Amino acid sequence: MNPRRRFLRLLAACGLGWGLGGCASGRHRRGTGSGQVVVVGGGHGGATAARYLKLMNPDLTVTLIEPRDTYLSCPGSNETVAGLKDMGTLVRSYDSLRRELDIKKVNAQATRLDRPRRRVVLADGAEVPYDRLVLSPGIDFRWDAIEGYDEAASRTVPHAWRAGPQTAMLARQIRTMPDGGLVLITAPANPYRCPPGPYERASLIACYLKKYKPRSKILILDAKTRFSKQPAFEQAWREHYGDMLEWISSEKQGRLERVDAAARTVETEFDAFRADVLNVIPPQKAGALAEQSGLTDTSGWCPVDPLSFASVYDSAIHVIGDACQAGPMPKSAFSANSQAKVCAAAVVASLAGEPPPEPLLINHCYSFVASDEAISITGVYGYSRNDGQLETRSTGETPPGGDRKREAIHARAWQRSFRADVFGY
Ligand SMILES: Cc1cc2nc3c(=O)[nH]c(=O)nc-3n(C[C@H](O)[C@H](O)[C@H](O)COP(=O)(O)OP(=O)(O)OC[C@H]3O[C@@H](n4cnc5c(N)ncnc54)[C@H](O)[C@@H]3O)c2cc1C
Repeated sequence: MNPRRRFLRLLAACGLGWGLGGCASGRHRRGTGSGQVVVVGGGHGGATAARYLKLMNPDLTVTLIEPRDTYLSCPGSNETVAGLKDMGTLVRSYDSLRRELDIKKVNAQATRLDRPRRRVVLADGAEVPYDRLVLSPGIDFRWDAIEGYDEAASRTVPHAWRAGPQTAMLARQIRTMPDGGLVLITAPANPYRCPPGPYERASLIACYLKKYKPRSKILILDAKTRFSKQPAFEQAWREHYGDMLEWISSEKQGRLERVDAAARTVETEFDAFRADVLNVIPPQKAGALAEQSGLTDTSGWCPVDPLSFASVYDSAIHVIGDACQAGPMPKSAFSANSQAKVCAAAVVASLAGEPPPEPLLINHCYSFVASDEAISITGVYGYSRNDGQLETRSTGETPPGGDRKREAIHARAWQRSFRADVFGY
C-alpha cells in the first residue's frame, strides 16, 4: 500500500480517536498534492480545520480569514455568567497556528464569495483566491422570529449566545439584580447552537443565586417539550436548587409570542411574565456569509455531503460547524472540531486526486450543573451507504445517579485539551 493511502486509512480509523486527542500525537504525516486552501471563520471549526490541514499536508498554503485578533470561546461562558470564571479564561490566541504551522492569518471580514472565480472578497475589496474553501462562520440570529426581540433589543436584553460583551452584560445583570428577583431564560426550538447550553446556564445561575440571592427564582420558558440530558439535569436541580429553578415546557405555555425589552416582559400564548433579568436565546440560522453565498436551503442551514462536508451546491466549498446540517450531530464545538478533521482529510485527499476516506465522527458534551459537578452526553456518527447521510452509531449520557463530581474533573481536563487540539497550545 502506498504511504498516502496508508495515511488516509489511518485518518479514517482515527476519526473517532482524534476528537479525544487519541491519535493527535503531533506526528506530522506528509500528504501529497499542494494547493491554496482558505478557511473563513477562526472559531472551533475553522481553527481546527486550518490546523489539521497543515498537520496532514504541510505543503498546503493555508489562509485563515477571521476579523478578530483573538477568539472568545462559548464553552466556559456559562461559568463566566455565574461568576465562576473571568472573561480572560475564554480568550484563545491564534499565535500557535501562525508561528508553529505557518498558517497565514488575515484579520478581515469576508464580505462576499465570488464562487465562479473561486475568490473570497474581503471588506476592503481585496480578493483571496482558493482551490478549496472551508467555511465555518458559526450562527446568525433570526431577528424576525420573536416579535419585539431584534438586534437593538439585544443591547439591553442579552442573548449571550456568542461569547463577548453579551456574556459580560448578562453576568453584570445577574450580579446587580435584587435578591428575590426573577431570572427568565427563553430556550429556542431545535436545531440551535449547543442544545444543553440553556440548561447549563440555568443551573450555574441557580448555583450563584443560591449562595448570594437565595430568595430569587429562575424560570426557563422552552419552545420544546423535552431537552438534552433532561433526566440528569432534573435530578441535579431537585437535589441542589429545589423550587428555585423551574422548567416550563411548550406544552404548558404554548408559543413565545412577544418580548418587550424596555419593560422586560415576555408574553406566551397563555401567560405573561415580568423578569428582573431577561435572557432571550433566539432561533438561529447559518452565519450570514453562507446564506448570502447561496449555500443554505430553506431551513437556513447548509446541506453538505457528510463524506467530505462539501456543500451540495458547490464542491469546492466545504461547510463545517454550526452552519452545516450534519444529520443527527448536535451543533457543538466538539462536533465542529470532529467535522473539521473529516473535512481536512477530505480536502487533502481531493487535492491529491483521491476520494475522501469514510468518516467516523464523535460529539461529547459536558454541562456543569453546579460549580464542581457536571454531566455529559456522547454520540458516535458514521456514514450510511444506504442514504448517503450520517447515522447515529451509539450514544450515551450520564445516568441520573452518575458521578457528577468526577465528570466535572473530566470536563475541566477536556476544556484544556480541547483548546490545545483546536488552537495548538
Ligand atoms: C453558552 C454556550 C456554551 C457552550 N458550551 C459548549 C460546550 O461546553 N461544549 C461544546 O462542544 N460546545 C459548546 N457550545 C457550542 C459552541 O460554542 C459552538 O457549537 C461552536 O463554537 C461552533 O463552532 P463554529 O466554528 O461553527 O462557530 P464559531 O465558533 O462561532 O466560529 C465562527 C467564527 O467565524 C467568524 N466569522 C463569521 N462570519 C465571518 C466572515 N464573514 N468573515 C470572517 N470570519 C467570519 C466569527 O468571527 C467566528 O470567530 C456552547 C455554546 C454556547 C452559546
